[in-house]
Amino acid sequence: MSFDLGSLGQSNREFLARRAGGEGLLIGSAWRSAAGGATFATLDPATGIETGRIAAAGAADVSDAVDAARAALPGWRATLPVDRARVLWAIADILEREIDALAELETLDQGKPLFIGRWAEIPGAINQFRFFAGQAMAIEGNSIESSIGYQPAGKQMRSWTVREAVGVVAAIVPWNSPLVLTAMKLAPALAAGCTVVLKPAEDTSLTALRLGELLLEAGLPAGVVNVVTGTGAETGAALAAHPGVDKIAFTGSTATGRAVLDAAKTNFKRVTLELGGKSPSIVMPDADLSLAIPGVANAIFFNAGQVCIAGSRLYVHRSIHDEVVEGVAAYAKAMKLGHGLSPDSQMGPLVSQRQAERVEGFLIRAKGEGATLLTGGERFGDAGTFVSPTVVVDVKPGMEIVEEEVFGPVVVAQAFDDAEEVVAAANDSQYGLAASVWTESLSTAHRMAGDIRAGTVWINCHAMYDAALPIGGVRQSGWGRDSGKQALDNYLEWKTICAVV
Ligand code: NAD
Repeated sequence: MSFDLGSLGQSNREFLARRAGGEGLLIGSAWRSAAGGATFATLDPATGIETGRIAAAGAADVSDAVDAARAALPGWRATLPVDRARVLWAIADILEREIDALAELETLDQGKPLFIGRWAEIPGAINQFRFFAGQAMAIEGNSIESSIGYQPAGKQMRSWTVREAVGVVAAIVPWNSPLVLTAMKLAPALAAGCTVVLKPAEDTSLTALRLGELLLEAGLPAGVVNVVTGTGAETGAALAAHPGVDKIAFTGSTATGRAVLDAAKTNFKRVTLELGGKSPSIVMPDADLSLAIPGVANAIFFNAGQVCIAGSRLYVHRSIHDEVVEGVAAYAKAMKLGHGLSPDSQMGPLVSQRQAERVEGFLIRAKGEGATLLTGGERFGDAGTFVSPTVVVDVKPGMEIVEEEVFGPVVVAQAFDDAEEVVAAANDSQYGLAASVWTESLSTAHRMAGDIRAGTVWINCHAMYDAALPIGGVRQSGWGRDSGKQALDNYLEWKTICAVV
């Protein structure tokens, strides 16, 4: 697969020349290299070619970024809600202006087909800023009638609550959908009056750097958002442990979520965690298969399965099991793999060699435990990190491939006989991020949506998300919700005021 950086649009060629030489830490309004000058390579996962050098921030750089965020906090917190809203709306307008270039940059960095960034993720990021521009002007407390007996003669007691920005937020995000997941943290944090230090994933730092430039262009004051790039073990850990951080807004794996929680203990940082999933897609016997087969296939193969809410466990009623599973396998076989910047690519590479090897490791072990790959599981192309879309059968509960998040284009299919059995199987998971139910029966849909323990249940669709819809999980899929007006609460403290008047 051949690809040449010279074929990128002019805007991205200029951006890479300007920002991808290792001077990409945004601290205050200044761009600089890491204090020790350390950098690491960022690669195009489809070809393995180096696309730039990224600054590897150390503890001293992280401290500088936290200091900049803390210095900017009083001013930003005191900014009128309408002025915060104005900046958030301006960010959305600028992202919209840059949408084609941002989609191209995300594909270059992460590998996904261009259409995903252009039509789903970047519009999703833009909507986050627009939605929370409105929320910035809708922050309110309560007036509370108390039963406090203390009433000095001729006086009355009044009590009320106000909402105040939590403070400095560490936003730590993964590599699968970088811009929209970043926007899910930044937009509510900024709306609430918080300042932020953003730490993108090491495999996908480029759009975070471009976003940093665009935030300044939109009029965000210096230091309100700072960007530190680097590894999780060094940069992420230093940020999560920093005493100047008041809150960690984390999206990533459940294992890293645990490390972040440990780091937060030092000064009791507020923590929200959007973690892993092993979400079931459930096809009932009365499902419309013309919707359900492509729907459940897309639920897992979209973005090569690198989606926290991917439908990675497929449960099909025994009466239609073979038809559906063969239909999903046929869908997988027909998918066109290729460089994300090729217009006809339907699936790109995995984000890195490490991730491709991780997925292959799951498949080798699954076969060792008796599973069969109905299709897929092979490397594709002579370079890059492509793994073909994979349907796994002959599995049973307890097998690693059924229990653990693979985070790749791998679905495990199992048959069931009745609704009660499949709800129990769906709920029998360490995770509880999402689920979908495919049925034409209104009452089946409602009852199963009620009985499944997950943060989101979709009916006859999967992975539909929107800035207005809260998303997050139960059990080990995390704490709290991103998106929706509930997300604003993550960035606000309650203050109670009690007065004798
Ligand atoms: P990861 O946990 O390895 O990394 C996430 C981020 O944490 C990265 O920026 C990384 O550098 C940083 N990090 C790593 N170690 C750290 C540490 N000790 N302290 C602080 N930061 C550290 O996750 P990933 O592999 O980048 O992403 C895939 C995971 O993200 C999957 O499990 C997926 O389900 C999850 N995810 C969840 C959601 C959701 O909304 N629930 C959304 C997208 C992805």
